[in-house]
Amino acid sequence: MASKRDYYDILGIPKGSSADEIKKAYRQLALKYHPDRNPDDKVAEEKFKELGEAYDVLGDADKKAAYDRHGHAAFSAGAGAGRGGSHDPFDIFREVFSGGGNGGGSVFDEFFGGGGGRSGRSAKARGADLRYDLEITLEEAAQGVEKQVELERAVACETCASSGAAKGGSAKNCPTCGGVGQVIASRGFFQVQQACPECSGTGQIISHPCPDCRGQGRSEKTTRIKLRIPAGISEGSRLRSSGNGDAGFRGAPAGDLYVIIHIRKHEVFEREDNDLFCEIPVSYAKATLGGDLVVPTMEGKASLKVPAGTQSGTVFRLRGKGMPVLNRGMKGDLLVTIQVEVPTNLNAEQKEKLKSFADSCGDQNNPMSESFFEKAKRFFS
Ligand SMILES: [Zn+2]
Ligand SMILES: [Zn+2]
Repeated sequence: MASKRDYYDILGIPKGSSADEIKKAYRQLALKYHPDRNPDDKVAEEKFKELGEAYDVLGDADKKAAYDRHGHAAFSAGAGAGRGGSHDPFDIFREVFSGGGNGGGSVFDEFFGGGGGRSGRSAKARGADLRYDLEITLEEAAQGVEKQVELERAVACETCASSGAAKGGSAKNCPTCGGVGQVIASRGFFQVQQACPECSGTGQIISHPCPDCRGQGRSEKTTRIKLRIPAGISEGSRLRSSGNGDAGFRGAPAGDLYVIIHIRKHEVFEREDNDLFCEIPVSYAKATLGGDLVVPTMEGKASLKVPAGTQSGTVFRLRGKGMPVLNRGMKGDLLVTIQVEVPTNLNAEQKEKLKSFADSCGDQNNPMSESFFEKAKRFFS
């Protein structure tokens, strides 16, 4: 369903507004009428769809030029044929906030740069955003690390300097569609917007396409990209490497590379936000008599004084020995849980000594048992 209203009126801005003004107006209204904010509100939903339709045209320099030239009637006839059908208002924000790249070509691609996967549209597109999943160790997350990743992506073609034209050839606006990539054709009563047959929707005609990139101005290559991972990064973080996505079509801006951080499970430490947790076995004698305990930390060894009579399960907090807090000069804590070990495989002499030790204690000096039996008294009487 194409809107009957003028697209400028829908966005509430005068003709001749700049690209920034259009984007701003659209963004404000789209947030206001977004279905997530207006559940079960049919009017808001309609308005939201209308906004999408308007921005689809006015947010695109080429389409806007054609719209300004030919007027609303020419556009509204065919607007449904282009992207309107796939305009799912419920998907847009989700895609933005979860960072999903270019699936479906939502309106918000304009802001966040999907670019790829759009059909029937002027192909002067920004390159697609890319995603790279990077696994690092907990130590690397604690210290920060520089990583080099290797990925396949479209890079600017050096042969033709991104122009897509071979030596002596050149690109010029397609005369049939005036560089828009779309033409409006009459079919009986209807006017239909369709990809320009002359330039296959690219809007440009190249006399001699570059043989290396076949006129694309970019080609797939394995590239290495250096990434700085900051200390304190957490699982699932998303880092943006600006301009390191796919190169744009014939010199259009490149997309971005999004790096998703995964932290390998550590064999000693568990992490919760900025705190680290570990369990340390302590001998029965040391737990009883007290003593120094060597504790592993992200920066090497630390020492912990275990007081005499430490029970299994006691937790000690070592302040500032946890993970660094991202972008702040502070650290979380390390929480050490004591596990008192029961000795096994005693020899005859050891058994004898332990028995005489037990005899000398009698029923005394078992602090946990005493309080337990006190509470559970009625079960034993
Ligand atoms: Zn080339
Ligand atoms: Zn054309």
